[in-house]
Amino acid sequence: AVEVHGVHKWYGAHRVLNGVDLTVRPGEVTAVLGPSGSGKSTLLRVVNHLEKPEIGYVSVNGEPIGVRRDGGRLKELSERAILAQRSRIGFVFQNFHLFPHLTVLDNVAAAPVATGRLRRTDAQELARELLARVGLTDKAGAYPRQLSGGQQQRVAIARALALRPGVILFDEPTSALDPELVGEVLAVIEDLATSGTTLVVVTHEIGFARRVADRVVFLDGGRIVEQGPPADVLDAPRHERTRAFLSKVL
Ligand code: ATP
Ligand code: MG
Repeated sequence: AVEVHGVHKWYGAHRVLNGVDLTVRPGEVTAVLGPSGSGKSTLLRVVNHLEKPEIGYVSVNGEPIGVRRDGGRLKELSERAILAQRSRIGFVFQNFHLFPHLTVLDNVAAAPVATGRLRRTDAQELARELLARVGLTDKAGAYPRQLSGGQQQRVAIARALALRPGVILFDEPTSALDPELVGEVLAVIEDLATSGTTLVVVTHEIGFARRVADRVVFLDGGRIVEQGPPADVLDAPRHERTRAFLSKVL
């Protein structure tokens, strides 16, 4: 499970997260919606400790991320310990972030080798399995620039899977894609959802959220304004701000 405990995040006087509490149970898919600037990316970045919250903390499967309890206080872990934790949390970005100088196969195989988990040959075998899973067996030897955006994003998903993460975070995984490529990426994410991977997906794809998410979270001004099953939040929102947002994106 992912548990966000009373997280506040600010930059100077600018309060970006204002007391966020959230629980994502194992195997659950949570879709995070909200206007631009509402703190969606920041929330994901706090989960894997790319951003340190000023107040509160996140735990994944009961383990605090980036900090340890020391008496009543939280102390920052070493950079090395944080990297180890982060390697168990998958992150898929809007703009793919593939390594341009590595083949597709090596993009997927790189992390298990770099973290010392697998030998290169074993990592490449795993990478082939994962590329098959995202429908890219025939692209193993290609370089990222030779792929469409949808294909690149599917490589990025395979790469995230290579570390067998307990949870995968997606930050608007289809926003950079041409409309005709969105479906192939959503289909891969939907396949992960069906197979019981714990997912947190920031998305503006309302149809996808309705179909795939167990829970929808609506964030505005750094607060969770409303959350619940898609049928409640999307089809019968209780808050005016949720309604206003949905009327713009639907
Ligand atoms: P979008 O839909 O546009 O991606 P978002 O909901 O993901 O928006 P965030 O990227 O989390 O929003 O940003 C929330 C607010 O925090 C924004 O007002 C942003 O300008 C601010 N912010 C984010 N990162 C920083 C930073 N490193 N320094 C200062 N302000 C920041
Ligand atoms: Mg964002």
